[in-house]
Amino acid sequence: METRLLPTDPKDALHESVREAVRILEGGDVVALPTETVYGLAGDVTSPDAINRIFEAKERPAFDPLIVHLPKRDQLGEVADVEPALEKPLRRLMEAFWPGPLTFILPKQPSVSDAITAGLPTVAVRMSSHPVIKRVLHELGRPLAAPSANRFGRISPTSAAAAQEELQGRIPLILDGGACSAGLESTIIRLEAAEPKPIIHILRQGPVTADQLKKFGKIAKKKKPRRETDAEAAATDTSPQPPMEAPGQTASHYAPRTPFRLLTSPADFSPEAGKRYALLSYRGEAKDGYLDLADFEEISILSPGSGKVPEAAVRLFFLMRQLDQLGVDEIIAEPVPEHGIGAAIMERLRRAAAEPRQSA
Ligand code: AMP
Ligand code: MG
Repeated sequence: METRLLPTDPKDALHESVREAVRILEGGDVVALPTETVYGLAGDVTSPDAINRIFEAKERPAFDPLIVHLPKRDQLGEVADVEPALEKPLRRLMEAFWPGPLTFILPKQPSVSDAITAGLPTVAVRMSSHPVIKRVLHELGRPLAAPSANRFGRISPTSAAAAQEELQGRIPLILDGGACSAGLESTIIRLEAAEPKPIIHILRQGPVTADQLKKFGKIAKKKKPRRETDAEAAATDTSPQPPMEAPGQTASHYAPRTPFRLLTSPADFSPEAGKRYALLSYRGEAKDGYLDLADFEEISILSPGSGKVPEAAVRLFFLMRQLDQLGVDEIIAEPVPEHGIGAAIMERLRRAAAEPRQSA
């Protein structure tokens, strides 16, 4: 299959490209398009063919559910069923963060297929602020299921070129909307009714930080993340299982092909003779103690100059992809400060460094 790449700039091009995307989506096929977090692979929620194609193109296992994107806030009721006690806190959060990189896990409407939710009674819902997906949703008028536009277990694409690298020949169309402004996947939360404030469970860290969320509720203490082996067991074991809080949040994820090591202390490293290394540095400063650890073939800097974590977030997946293409023997990553969006970056780095498992 030929994968076409269409521009969304200038305005005329946007109009034409959106029209083509909507035509394809109405025909039950899939389109990769930009959101503010990462590129998504979108299909009409009401089309079983489109949902199948998303799983096929991504080689995504059926136990990993998709995120649903809404055209308008008042279409939430089409996919989710909100308990009365949560209506007010949910509305406050939606008003504060939508459109934006925050996903809610809510009880699903019966019309949402089990394929989308991987058989769960809940559905993940989001409203993106990116003008391209907003236009497509507006013209289609129906919600889209859109997980990240990468093959399962791989680095999420933050540019059209990266989406092309992942899905070339597998899908008919990619809309090029430039680089993603947040650069990390959405924050995923679940709300639990409580007085005086709801409890907020953060299932996946992301651009909306715990600090920003805490005035809307009590942030629940983190549970230990479930490991991929648990997911594999859950997929094959038919005995009753406790529900998985965050399916898809498996230990080995975001995996570059090159071995990847998160080096929390430079003292823990000595280079092996003959091995070729690259460094993913936080701010590229010698005083951090990493630059001279080896004769690095390449040093990529997440936040050049000032060392700011939001800048590091935007560049993280892009630089990981670039380093992965060098063909070195190992990529060494420096830690970043674990505050604000730095917590989400560290989570991605830990997953990238986790031992790859068979199914990833
Ligand atoms: P992606 O957009 O590719 O990052 O994938 C969507 C992710 O959202 C999945 O991997 C899950 O971690 C999460 N997700 C989607 N639906 C649910 C759900 N019903 N309950 C919990 N997590 C979900
Ligand atoms: Mg993903």
